[in-house]
Formats: sequence, structure tokens, C-alpha cells
Amino acid sequence: MGKFKSVNELVNSLKPDYPVYCIRPSEIKKSVNFFRENFPGKILYAVKTNPNEKIIKQIIANGINEFDVASLSEIKLIKKIYPEAKLHYMHTVKSKESIVSAYSEYNVKSFSLDSKDELRKILEATNQAKDLELFVRIAISNEHAEIDLSRKFGALPSEALGLVRLCKQHAKKLGISFHVGSQCMHKVSYSKGIKEIGSIIKKTKILPDTINVGGGFPSIYPDLNPEPLINYMQEIKKELSNLKLNKLPEIICEPGRAIVAESGSTIVKVILRKKNNLYINDGTYGSLFDAGGPNFVFPSKMIAEGRVQSKKLTAFSFFGPTCDGLDYMKGPFVLPNNIKEGDYIELGQLGAYSLTFRTNFNGFYSNEIHELSDKPIMSMYDDLDKKVGSLVA
Ligand SMILES: *Cc1c(COP(=O)(O)O)cnc(C)c1O
Repeated sequence: MGKFKSVNELVNSLKPDYPVYCIRPSEIKKSVNFFRENFPGKILYAVKTNPNEKIIKQIIANGINEFDVASLSEIKLIKKIYPEAKLHYMHTVKSKESIVSAYSEYNVKSFSLDSKDELRKILEATNQAKDLELFVRIAISNEHAEIDLSRKFGALPSEALGLVRLCKQHAKKLGISFHVGSQCMHKVSYSKGIKEIGSIIKKTKILPDTINVGGGFPSIYPDLNPEPLINYMQEIKKELSNLKLNKLPEIICEPGRAIVAESGSTIVKVILRKKNNLYINDGTYGSLFDAGGPNFVFPSKMIAEGRVQSKKLTAFSFFGPTCDGLDYMKGPFVLPNNIKEGDYIELGQLGAYSLTFRTNFNGFYSNEIHELSDKPIMSMYDDLDKKVGSLVA
């Protein structure tokens, strides 16, 4: 891994014919600090978002030491990097073998579930352990999210009450959790989730030890500009106090995207231009999966040393390097109109759900990862002081 002062310096010195992934560690410091200063509880990083070792180490260096993991490989990865880390196995559907291994080999005590059968599995796999922390994940609407998880996970209200009662009998610590869906564009989703937990507390008369508001905190993209993250934090605090509990449970969250999105970008090269379609050397089978089906639009910047960049901007679509027609990214990616074969493009906001999606399909795989110290194309943390200031005023 090389270190460069800027994207331009990197492109000029490497003139890469392969995609290059960039990490800006300073951006992780900003996001982690924001959460540590403003979230009213504990922060677990959701490892799947970006499991790159450099990223994980940077997150740890900034003070996060608990992780949301969803597979044995993620458990092994974090334990190797940081043996003291506290891990929470937050996938609600796990194989019995992986639960056995997580509990007995890796000392994982914390598990989530959304069905009776999963609870039975956890109890059997841990030999009816008495030291479990069990999270009942409830289903809530994901209507304001770009990525909907609600069909796949979560106990429906009719099942949730029984599950909470059962888990109370079996768990040393009881938690209730939800996930509003990824890139959640409206803070009201969090207050709805907390209200739902409030109604479960009323109906069961069981006070959980932990309330887990999950992930879903948004990042910023050219066509997705959420209200400031500080507003989400205030909404969560307000709704928690509306529960009017004598003693507030421990509060936790599991952010992924909002912690790492700004820290990553991909530098691609233009291989061919056909009108407003650019054929580039990375695509949906590489780090740009979310630009395909999910149609995320990433901010784009042309890099072409020694050439004047046209002031006229054009909306482009991209095709990736493989032979598959699905390797298409609609965009619009707005770039100078004179962009042509051989030019480079930096695509920003790719720290989340990108590096980890790369495949070897068609022989296109790049593992060139370098560190940058310049600013990302976009940031929702940079204007923070202003936004916090205006809220306080
Ligand atoms: C993916 C995931 C997260 C992280 O979600 P983001 O939208 O990236 O913040 C948190 N918790 C669980 C259970 C997840 O599956």
C-alpha cells in the first residue's frame, strides 16, 4: 500500500491501467468521532460494510472496540486483528455449527434472532448456556431506506411479544433491536422503531437490558442528500426520553455506511467512449456493484493532467470491463464533456459496500489499494461545525 498526498499525485505517478482503490484514514477519524460525541450509547461497527484490515485498524485506533459480525470469517478476521474485541453475532439466521464455533472457540456471547427456531438452535448449540446476551430483532418498516431489509429479517409484532418473553427466561442479558434499512433518508424511521420497542415493553412488562437501534445511518451522494446526521441523533434521544422509563436500558447502534462511506474511492480509466456511454475498467463485478442494480450514483471527478477540462458538463452512463450486459451503471455520472479514452475518473463515497464486492469474473480483479491524505469529493462531516452551530442557535 502506497501513500499519496492527492488523487492527482497517485494517478500521475502510477498511470494505472487497472482500477485503484483509495482509503482516506482521516475521514474515518471524523465519522467515528462524530458518533462517539453524538450518539447516546455504544457504537458497534458493522464489519460487512468494509472488512479491509487497514479500515478496521483505523476504526479501532479511533476508539471503537465492539463489532457487529455476521459470519465465522468475520469473527476470525476481527479476532486476528484485535483479540480483545467484543463481538456480537447479529445475523438472525446462523448455522448451528457456526454458533457452536462462535461460542466455544471465539467466546462470542451475544446473538440476535427473530424466530423461536433460531432461539432453540442457539440454546442447543451453546448447551443451554447461562451467559448469553440475546437480541430479539423486530420487523419495522424500511420505507425510507434505499436498501430494504424488512422482508428478510425481523419478528412481526404478533411473534415479537412471545419471543421477548422466551428470551427473558433464557438470556443473561436481553436486548431488542431493529434495522431501519440501509441509507435511511428519514430520521422518523428511528423514532418509529423506538416507539415499537416502547409498546413491547408496555405489553410484556419486561424492560430489556439493551435497546439496539441498528445501522442505516445515511451517507451523502449526489442525488441523496439527507438532513444532517446530528438531527438523527437528536431524534433518537428525544424518542428514548419519550419512553419515560425509570431506568433507561443501555443503548447501542451498529453503523456501517455512515462510518466508512466517505473514506473510500475508486479510480477508473476510460477504455472507450461511445457518445454518452463510457466503458471503464471497473464495474458491477468489481467495486461498483451498488452503481448497477441498486443504481447508486457516486460523485465523479475527471483526472486528466495537462488537459483542459471542458466546462460543459455531460451526464454519462458507464459500462464495466466484463462481457456481461448486467455490468452497466446508469448514473447519471456528471463529467466534463471532453472526457475521452485514457482519462481517469475518481468515483467517491465508495468506502461502504464496494471493496468487499469484488469478484474475479472474466479475469478482472484489482487489489491495488493506496492511502490518500487529500479531501474526498464529498463529505457530510466537513460542514459539521456549521450545522451543529446552527442547530444550537
Ligand atoms: C448491514 C447491517 C448493519 C449496517 O448497516 P448500514 O446501513 O451500513 O449502517 C447493521 N446491522 C445489521 C444487523 C446489518 O445487517
